[in-house]
Amino acid sequence: MSADLPDVRQTRLDNYVDRYAARTKGMTASEIRALFSVASRPEVVSLAGGMPNIAGLPLDVVGSAVRDLVVDHGATAMQYGSGQGDPTLRDQICDVMRLEGIDAHPDDVVVTVGSQQAVDLVTRVFCDPGDVVICEAPSYVGALGVFRAYQCEVVHVAMDDNGVVPEALEQAIAAVRAAGKRIKFFYTIPNFHNPAGVSLSSERRGRVLEICQRNDLLVLEDNPYGLLGFDGEPRRALRADDREGVIYLGSFSKTFAPGFRVGWAVAPHAVREKLVLAQESATLCPPVFSQLAISSYLTRHDWMGQVKQFREMYRERRDAMLAALTEKMPAATTWTKPDGGFYVWLTLPEGLDAKAMLPRAVTARVAYVPGTAFFSDGFGSQCMRLSYCHPTPERITEGVARLAAVINEELEL
Ligand code: PMP
Repeated sequence: MSADLPDVRQTRLDNYVDRYAARTKGMTASEIRALFSVASRPEVVSLAGGMPNIAGLPLDVVGSAVRDLVVDHGATAMQYGSGQGDPTLRDQICDVMRLEGIDAHPDDVVVTVGSQQAVDLVTRVFCDPGDVVICEAPSYVGALGVFRAYQCEVVHVAMDDNGVVPEALEQAIAAVRAAGKRIKFFYTIPNFHNPAGVSLSSERRGRVLEICQRNDLLVLEDNPYGLLGFDGEPRRALRADDREGVIYLGSFSKTFAPGFRVGWAVAPHAVREKLVLAQESATLCPPVFSQLAISSYLTRHDWMGQVKQFREMYRERRDAMLAALTEKMPAATTWTKPDGGFYVWLTLPEGLDAKAMLPRAVTARVAYVPGTAFFSDGFGSQCMRLSYCHPTPERITEGVARLAAVINEELEL
């Protein structure tokens, strides 16, 4: 080895381990991230990532909006801006939310760096180490990562095909409080759940709100997929029926493009003040350029027409996945039947372990995310998340056939 180069074996050792804050113990690479490099090989059909299929976007419209932004409003677009977010965009966000029955004022909206940052800011504002966050079982891996990073305890509550089970929620609240612990909020994804692929039925929406109100429990409603339903009108948001008890999170990542990194939170007035302070200390302000680009796109383009095209694109892929699952999967394998969004949640026959099976699946050139990624407590090993958002319908059919072959081989072992 050359004397000038550092010894690789030395530099790989982390000499800072003893100095990290205690909260970093919860910061581990998600199972999804570890999968990305393998799953992105062209020969592998990736049913793993939840990346929106932005191939359908009108790049000429986006391009001219961005170009005009630089030429006509460059001095503003490239400057710092409001910590709460651009006022015009906040106004447009209120129009977007009206589609789900939410009547909000632009002053109630805080723009964030994707809704991921909104989850972070809400947790930063509410949670001390040891506080409990109630989540569905399973729940969004990115939110679980945030809750871990703030040293929260996650308590999972059972779901079925109609979303979270109200009785289970009520029991969980009682059990946590009986154990003398503080619950800070109930984190829920009511529409086209990631990863479960189910939605909270309209009958249950009222019951869930009633339980949370009676128990004085704040709801964190995370709704990035709400406009991507395949049938009928968008469902009514929980926030539409409770302005004081619900913090609502939205995002342009799935209805437009995730690369702009723009999402938002709508919160009760007092909470909104705290979120803006937290936003200012985290980023000074959300990216002005991205906000103005989105604002211009919403003004110039028939963006709802675009959302409808996305819905059709995802519906076709969902159909391909459900048809292939019905045709190929062995008996005793079950799966959810999403009517919107990106995901199917599959449960393997008794005795099979999705995590242990993954290396064999990748060798067979198909990837998925093992269910354990979506639980804080090691549960979910018999399950997996399958995403249909990105591959073509033909590739989805092929991927499911490969997966079914791997499961059949496992059953024969
Ligand atoms: N919440 C859920 C349920 C998600 O699925 C995602 C993205 N996969 C996010 C939040 C974060 O989205 P973004 O930060 O791109 O708005």
